Amino acid sequence: MSKKHMSGSKEIRLTGISGSPGICIGKAYLVDREGVDVIEKYLIPQGKLTKEVNRFKSAVKKAKDELAEIIEDVPEEIQQQIHVLEAHKALFKDKMIYHKTIDTIKKEQINAEWALKKVVSDVKEMFNEISDPYLKGRVVDITHVSGHIMRNLVGTNDINIADIDKRVILVAQDLSPAEASQIQLERIKGFITDRGGKASHTGIIARTIEIPSVLGLGNASTIIKNDDIIIVDGTAGLVIVHPRDETIIHYEDRNRRYEEFRAEITRESHRPAETKDGLNIKVMGNIELPEEIVSVINYGGDGIGLFRTEFLYLSRNSYPAEDELVDQFMDVVEIMSPNPVTIRTLDINGDKAVMYDNSPAEENPAMGLRAIRFCLKRPDVFMTQLRAILRVAAMGNVRIMFPMISSIDEVLDAKRLLNEAAESLDKEGINFNSDIDIGIMIEVPSAVVLANELAEMVDFFSIGTNDLVQYSLAIDRVNTQVAYMFQSLHPAVIRMVQNVINVGRDNNIKVAMCGEMAGDPTSIPILLGMGMDELSMNPQSMPAVKTVIRTLNSNESKMFLKDILKLNTSAEIIRMVQDTYGDTLSEAVYAE
Ligand code: PEP
Ligand code: MG
Repeated sequence: MSKKHMSGSKEIRLTGISGSPGICIGKAYLVDREGVDVIEKYLIPQGKLTKEVNRFKSAVKKAKDELAEIIEDVPEEIQQQIHVLEAHKALFKDKMIYHKTIDTIKKEQINAEWALKKVVSDVKEMFNEISDPYLKGRVVDITHVSGHIMRNLVGTNDINIADIDKRVILVAQDLSPAEASQIQLERIKGFITDRGGKASHTGIIARTIEIPSVLGLGNASTIIKNDDIIIVDGTAGLVIVHPRDETIIHYEDRNRRYEEFRAEITRESHRPAETKDGLNIKVMGNIELPEEIVSVINYGGDGIGLFRTEFLYLSRNSYPAEDELVDQFMDVVEIMSPNPVTIRTLDINGDKAVMYDNSPAEENPAMGLRAIRFCLKRPDVFMTQLRAILRVAAMGNVRIMFPMISSIDEVLDAKRLLNEAAESLDKEGINFNSDIDIGIMIEVPSAVVLANELAEMVDFFSIGTNDLVQYSLAIDRVNTQVAYMFQSLHPAVIRMVQNVINVGRDNNIKVAMCGEMAGDPTSIPILLGMGMDELSMNPQSMPAVKTVIRTLNSNESKMFLKDILKLNTSAEIIRMVQDTYGDTLSEAVYAE
């Protein structure tokens, strides 16, 4: 039984999924956007009921006024979206929510927050029974509107993560990748979420910006209150709430040792990643935003293997213009020069929806109108990006890469539009370069099966294991419940990767890997054995991966792979890696 902390609260340990390694200790800052789940219920004495009803009414009025202001400021480009906001405005005084909440406060003599929560949950249930997809979709509007009123009731403002000005640890039910990308490093020490899976983009961003994070904690945002002291052990996927003094001392010590370890492996990171037998492996960086390039340079990256351009589209109100994209791409291309920058075309939707796009909500967004599918449906948006890429290609070493390819047709269409983009630039007399390497991501199982045919159409493949695992093992990458089954060392995944590498070799095209598997030290002996010579990863993983590569011999890895390919379960594969390379790995990866 844990001893009690000085404040009287018991130390609580919560286990989740490691989002990003490292340790931080600090005060919790709740960013629960709906606020609905942290609401307490209390009774209101008869004589104070009118006051409580009025409190609710003014929260509604405030929300309505705030919305009216937003509507007034809506930029021209998204005026066509205004009807959604107008509909929200009408919902504020809707009978279902407004009058029902007031009735509930009075009848049950309870606080406004609890009454609103109850009414909204009843309404949502009712909507769930409706089969009409349009009406069903209105649940989203109700959630927005009720969330807005709730925030006014509990006195929290709409949280803009970029505006947080304290040194805190964020605690949220969920953080979208767009929100995570707004985190200001000098202020936010780390973050933890109730939801989220292993390969979610939110976790990927945490690793890129190098702040400790734990995801998939289940109910951390209900247990933890604002200003509670918490410890986040991102490496172990552990969160400690109300830590005892001894626990804090222990973790401060561990943190110091972790920092020393990082500094040590980082010192060597600018050196090339060369195996013992002299094979040079290219270690490239994955970035989401131009500023992340600093880490790629610091860790001695050989270029950018994946520029997730969609992040330039997320935290804003409208699609970026061509010139804006050129500016952003230029920053990266110039700094990386002469090393290559692989610009991946827009991969929005899935877990990265843009607010200003008016496509209907999807039941199953991971399999919906995402990435290349979206771009081929919206050639206007796609063309802007393609033109920007061709323009920066005239000024540096640029490769273009299409995401989520699942058929030959998609490559034909994408290349046709790329040609059209070049022709239009040519006609307008704008400087560009279309003589660049064109690649595709191999991340949908059908692309693995069609690899031979696809190889004839492109200059390179880059294997995206985050989605390849998601789609081939049918494991939603953002789902906490099945996170334990998200295994890139699954024999089926290993065989697919091997197949793609073989096809690349037979067709004389380059095969890289840019999924999280490429940055996982445990996978390196296997990938090296397969003949993979270009790995792209979040910059933070580079020092450890380079350290592992330097201890390996490529011929030995080839022999090792033969044994691995005989195994039929992930557990056996992981065990064999540990038995053979455990010592090497523990030198490169911080493990206590
Ligand atoms: C992948 O799917 O492995 C990948 C690198 O792309 P993203 O994580 O952006 O979907
Ligand atoms: Mg992907």
